[in-house]
Amino acid sequence: MARAHAQTLRTKVTPNEAWAQLDAQLQRQWARLTARRGGSDPMITESAEPRFVCDAGLGGLARWLRAAGYEAAWTAGIADDALLRAAREQRALLLTTDSLLLERRVIREGTIPTLWLPPWGRAPEQLARVFRELRLRPRTPRCMACGGELRREDKAAVAARIPPRTARWLDLYFVCARCNRLFWHGTHWARITERLRSLGIDETS
Ligand SMILES: [Zn+2]
Repeated sequence: MARAHAQTLRTKVTPNEAWAQLDAQLQRQWARLTARRGGSDPMITESAEPRFVCDAGLGGLARWLRAAGYEAAWTAGIADDALLRAAREQRALLLTTDSLLLERRVIREGTIPTLWLPPWGRAPEQLARVFRELRLRPRTPRCMACGGELRREDKAAVAARIPPRTARWLDLYFVCARCNRLFWHGTHWARITERLRSLGIDETS
């Protein structure tokens, strides 16, 4: 009877409440993991360049992490085993929305430091959460496509690749040292930095 009553109570929990409970539970799990390793993660605190491996569903977050200056690997449709292997080989922190993955021994035992993110929410909010949990600050932006370093390039040297309308009002251009993609601080860039600022992620945070 008591059990049935409990069951009824459980079914009254709204999906949002259920997610919040699961979230809290996973956050505690994460806190226990980090506490076991001495309160913080050595791969994060000791490395000057923390890097990330994102699960298959976090392609958007990977791009935002790069825009905020962090290396973030992402492969479309990557299988769990390949994902874990990549995180281990790159000594990266694994970002995942898959709570089943947290049951893997390498994660439970802390071999692969992992941050679980709620499966809802958009990439900028997910980024804000990563920054909050790991107390990160924005760095020099990297290429959003591949995470490569962006180098200042003379306008004249890349003139042929600049859309004429952009060339008329902008003088600052960057080229990715890895994939050679051209970037400039135009309106798209302003939108990104504005979004980061609105989430409390800026140079002064
Ligand atoms: Zn690139």
